[in-house]
Amino acid sequence: MTFVTSTWIEPASTATALLLLGRGTDPASERGVDCPGDLPAPSDPDLVARATAAKAALGNRVFVLGHHYQRDEVIQFADVTGDSFKLAQQAAARPDAEFILFCGVHFMAESADILTTPDQKVILPDLAAGCSMADMAVLGQVETAWERFEDLGITGEIVPVTYMNSSADIKGFVGRNKGVVCTSSNAKRALDWSFEQGSKVFFLPDQHLGRNTAVLEMGFDLDDCVLYDPHKPGGGLTDEQLRNARMILWRGHCSVHGRFTLDSVREVRERVPGVNVLVHPECRHDVVRAADFVGSTEYIIRALDAAEPGSSWAVGTELNLVRRMALAHPDKQIMFLDRAVCYCSTMNRIDLPHLVWALEELVAGRVPNQISVDPDTAHHARVALDQMLALP
Ligand code: SF4
Repeated sequence: MTFVTSTWIEPASTATALLLLGRGTDPASERGVDCPGDLPAPSDPDLVARATAAKAALGNRVFVLGHHYQRDEVIQFADVTGDSFKLAQQAAARPDAEFILFCGVHFMAESADILTTPDQKVILPDLAAGCSMADMAVLGQVETAWERFEDLGITGEIVPVTYMNSSADIKGFVGRNKGVVCTSSNAKRALDWSFEQGSKVFFLPDQHLGRNTAVLEMGFDLDDCVLYDPHKPGGGLTDEQLRNARMILWRGHCSVHGRFTLDSVREVRERVPGVNVLVHPECRHDVVRAADFVGSTEYIIRALDAAEPGSSWAVGTELNLVRRMALAHPDKQIMFLDRAVCYCSTMNRIDLPHLVWALEELVAGRVPNQISVDPDTAHHARVALDQMLALP
């Protein structure tokens, strides 16, 4: 399919295009690959009709959530669209829906399961839809780091903070240790609260969101931040570094937003005079510093909606969203910050065949790919989520 408006230029495809479109495998970042049933063929001309019919047959029993980074073919069936936090809230606001069909990634479906009633079932149409960032912080690694901090006698000073983009296990760890969850919209408020509780923050799993918030919004120095690498002995940090640090950042990042570089920003500024560079805070620190505006996915949408006709915008976030915004605003020049394709490969695994399969399974009385968090983890994760909701 080709998307062309008067201003939109499709980024160049890459050698991994098939993988990005969800036809391959990426064992390093997935929780599962194979669909446990018979997927309809992507070429089936009746897919839209089948999804429409199955959704109508389920009526109010199903509530379909669509993350902003999803493909258009999936988004058209979403009852509500949003970022991960908004979607979790929306799921919690629909206790009457028996099934929450989450077109997003694994950690989002876990959060929805934690926030919904025990009777509701949360379904992820493709179990391979994980998040590479969330996969970068595994509970055993985080507990090993905490033991190191305990040996140093500094855990009493540390407040753990985890980004919403983390597994339920990590949110549970944070809840157990009196910390808080944050989103890209409220990271500063979460850090402000945390520094009232202690003198150090252990920030998981996105180093960039932690660093960008601490340095650019709270006035910390880069030297106040250290990077804990779970693949190095002791995290690759000396005792003195850990004792002196204010922000202990986990070495994780988003493989989508991490692709944007300072060169991308320089190149677009040369090519498009007067362009506004708008990026997500999951981008690297030098990219965020060089941008004109930085904010969450919802902020990016609001900024583009409110932009003056005729203005030019180079946007550093996931491609499906940027393309959708460009098509929705043909009177503004909205372009992708990078010249190459940059989808969230795992989220893009949820395609129309998976959606049709999941809906038709529900119609047939079977519950496919249910995501359920064990009660103890869910309890502690909920503590950390509720602490976020209570932030001043
Ligand atoms: S865009 Fe990045 S953080 Fe978001 S789901 Fe994809 S890999 Fe995870």
